[in-house]
Amino acid sequence: MGFSYWLQPFLDLLFPTVCASCRKLSSGSLSLCNSCLDDVRYLHSPLCVRCGALFGDGNGGDHLCGNCLRKSPPYLLARAVALYAPPVSTLLHLLKYRTDRTVLSTLRHIAAPFDFGPFASCDLIVPVPLHLKRLRERGLNQSLLLSRIFFPGQAKAIRPEILVRTRDTVPQTGLGGKERRKNLRAAFAVTRQENINGKGVCLVDDVLTTGATVIECAGALMRAGAKEVKVLTMARAVERMVVDPTVKQTAQD
Ligand SMILES: [Zn+2]
Ligand SMILES: [Zn+2]
Repeated sequence: MGFSYWLQPFLDLLFPTVCASCRKLSSGSLSLCNSCLDDVRYLHSPLCVRCGALFGDGNGGDHLCGNCLRKSPPYLLARAVALYAPPVSTLLHLLKYRTDRTVLSTLRHIAAPFDFGPFASCDLIVPVPLHLKRLRERGLNQSLLLSRIFFPGQAKAIRPEILVRTRDTVPQTGLGGKERRKNLRAAFAVTRQENINGKGVCLVDDVLTTGATVIECAGALMRAGAKEVKVLTMARAVERMVVDPTVKQTAQD
């Protein structure tokens, strides 16, 4: 038992933490109180085996959804840790728009029970890139930071330089699925083709909404010779309100 073990209760008294979601005082080192942590909605089967969409009825096993049956996405599978709803959406918003890195340890805590098994075979981990202009404005790429918390100890496999955003697209908010895809067309390029040839790639993003972003990125990686692309996001927005009518679609991907 170290010094900090004895010190922490006094620090909590002197500097109580405010929960990032409900704004109530809380103790402990995380950005959320225990009650808000309990509100995290993990995604469970039945899911679409391909895109990871939730089947609202909650019955039966995993199977292909109608969208993936109609048109197969360029990635092998997409999975998300949790539903894009408070408190996860609140934390991602703080990270992305307020550059609040203190939420990272809480996101790591939330992601801990997630089954990373399907991603164990990936050779490379590639975060969805921001345009250089956007990166300079924001000062961080949330997808790169999430890659580091999803894959600790695999720093060498995390390769943000492989995929670049060649066009500064207009923000996706308020655009429908078709418009999002049009907005993103040819917005991504692979810089080092020889490095991904025959490799299994894990593509990391913060939120999956319509999937337009990851479809564009996965397409670019596959065209450059990747063996397969698996997509991992911290959260997934529910497009139609099939799971919970209180979940509003406010994500931007
Ligand atoms: Zn709270
Ligand atoms: Zn699907």
